[in-house]
This record gives sequence, structure tokens and C-alpha cells, in this order.
Amino acid sequence: MKYIDEFRDGELARNLARHIAAAADPARPYRFMEFCGGHTHAIARYGLKALLPPNVRLIHGPGCPVCVLPIGRVDQAIRMALEYEVTLCTYGDCLRVPASNGLSLLKAKARGADVRMVYSTQDALALAQRHPERQVVFFAIGFETTTPPTAVAIAQAQALGLGNFSVLCCHVLTPAAIIGILGAAQTPETASAQAGAKADPQGGLALDGMVGPAHVSTVIGSAPYEFVPERYGKPVVIAGFEPLDMLQAILMLVRQVNDGRAEVENEFTRAVTRQGNPKAQALVARIFTLRPEFEWRGLGTLPASALMLSPAYAGFDAELRFPLPYTPVPDHKACECGAILRGVKEPRDCKVFGSVCTPDNPLGSCMVSSEGACAAHYTYGRYQDLGGMSHPEAHRP
Ligand code: SF4
Repeated sequence: MKYIDEFRDGELARNLARHIAAAADPARPYRFMEFCGGHTHAIARYGLKALLPPNVRLIHGPGCPVCVLPIGRVDQAIRMALEYEVTLCTYGDCLRVPASNGLSLLKAKARGADVRMVYSTQDALALAQRHPERQVVFFAIGFETTTPPTAVAIAQAQALGLGNFSVLCCHVLTPAAIIGILGAAQTPETASAQAGAKADPQGGLALDGMVGPAHVSTVIGSAPYEFVPERYGKPVVIAGFEPLDMLQAILMLVRQVNDGRAEVENEFTRAVTRQGNPKAQALVARIFTLRPEFEWRGLGTLPASALMLSPAYAGFDAELRFPLPYTPVPDHKACECGAILRGVKEPRDCKVFGSVCTPDNPLGSCMVSSEGACAAHYTYGRYQDLGGMSHPEAHRP
């Protein structure tokens, strides 16, 4: 299959791994964050960590849409469904994110709330058209990839004069999260996670570079990451989701670090340009405006990091139509999702990983979606913790 098979070739992957091993200076660490949950999934699924030399380390980032959704936002959606008796539509993974009082949207549905799983915003819009007697709310989550379809639905709802459709908008922005990660003050947990590593002069997580998102970058382009080398002196390589994309991006990052360069490079040239998709960007800019601040799971409250409906479309804002105060709720005290999303812990650092918390019974959001670090590690990597598997052949120069 074009663009699939040729990017999953085992021999080419081993060859790239040998190039990485040959390029990596054994005297120094290379710590690269893969921002995107899609990359986290690919790394676990294809066992890419086992192909890398021990001093090239991949660190999970916050780019999984349901993982970064804080409990308070899920609570808000549940209360909207239960107290205002709306028909609440959202994507499948979102239904299982644990909320307060042992609830989730799925469990609220079992208690009688009208909660529907949809595959697209168009499903929610069609539901509103078929049931004019019901108020239909689309619980919109995700990064810049899922924002344009929500914008399209709102524009259509206005064109159709739909008075029973609205959006609970929790769309978040990638560059703001990168600032949240790279600009974070040094905390005791980052210090202990980095023990033995060189201190980061910025005082944040000690990273040597970042693998930039694939799908998000098809929309926003590569230009919005240019502040990362300029402000933080870190290289970024945008990568596709296939295993060879990832390995090539890691090699490009290693070479930038070795050369003392910090640039935005684009490995995913078959889909990403510097400008991105101007039509989608214009639509999003018309329908949405910046929220002054937004709470993220793990990253705290970040300024200008999420979207709300612009004044011209405020009539479709579910938070105005069905007012409910937003209440922040701390994560379960056993759950390490926050630290995992900041890149300072790994799933195996969580005491309840694989015992109390499993994909069938998630305690935290990182175990819900296949893009979540805990779910990916549970599905593909947990037995490697026991055996310490690696591919010695990959390390041969
Ligand atoms: S294993 Fe479960 S409880 Fe622990 S960090 Fe992951 S999602 Fe949270």
C-alpha cells in the first residue's frame, strides 16, 4: 500500500537504526520528546526504543487529546448531559475518560444521560437536524487537527439556522503546550528525573530536541515551531507516523545536536509545508478566538492555549447556552498522568500501572486512548520491562 508498506520496511528500519547508532556520540545523552500521541503509539507498536542506542532516549509528550483533558472538563460535559438533559455527542475515546465521583461519560450514559459516540462532527450535526426537539451538544476536544471539522460544523449550523446545536469547545493549541513544557520552571520532580543529566539553562525539562507532530502540522505548517529553536535553542523535526518516519527524524535530530544546530526541519514533506493549510486556518480564525487561559491535565493552567467560539458564533457556544461553572479537580492521588504528560515520568513509574489501571478499567486518562503513553506501553511494551529486550544488531556500526 503506497505510503504505508515502504515506510514499514524492517531492513530499512534496521539500517536507519545502525546510522543512528553510528552518529550518536556515546559520551553524551540525546533526550528527544515526541510531542504527539500518534508518535508515542508508533514507538510502542513498532518497538522503536529497542532499536536505539541506550543514550538516545525518547520521552513522551502531552500530545494525546484525551490525555490532556482535565477531569473538570469531563465533569462539565457530564453535568450538561445530566442537568440540562442535552444529547451530548463526542468521539469514542472521550467517553471513557475517568471523571469525578467514579463517573465517566459512558457511566453517565448508564445512569440515563443521553450520551452518543460519534465518528465526526457531521454525525452530531445530522443528529441535531433529525431531532429538532432535542438540544444537541458536541463536546469538541483535540489539537489543531480536529479543530477545522468543528469549525465546519458550526459554520454549517449557522447556515442551516440550527437552533438546537452547540459546541462545548475544548480545542487546545500545540505551540502553547510546547511553551508549557519547555518553559516550565524546574521542579523537584524534573530535577530528580534528570539526575545525572546536564542542567537545562532554561530551567525546564532537559530536552535536546523535539519530534514535531504529523497531523497537526498538516494544518498549521512548520512555521509555528520556529520559536522553539529561536527562544529555547532546541531543534524540532516534524515527522510522519510510520516507523521509518520516526527513525529518520531521530537521525536528523541526532545530526542537528552533533552539529550544534537548532532548526525546524521537516521529515514529513509528503504532507507538511511551511505554510500548512491556509483555508483551514482561515476558517478556524473566523469561527474561534483564544481563551485567555485553559487548564490542561499535567501542564496546569496555560495562557492563550485553547479556543472558544468567537463573538459572531457565540450563539453556538454550549458554555453560554447551558451555564455551568468550571471547577478544577485534582487527579486521583495514585495516578502519575500529570508527570507523564510533562515528560518527567514513564508509565512503569506508576504504582498502579497494569494492576488497578488497565485499558479495560482506566484510572487515569493516559490509559484510555491508544495514543496515551500508558495504554501504548500496556499494549506493546509492558513485557519488555521484564526482559529488557533490545536489538543488538541495531547498535552495530
Ligand atoms: S497507569 Fe493509569 S493511573 Fe497510572 S499514570 Fe497511567 S493512566 Fe494514570
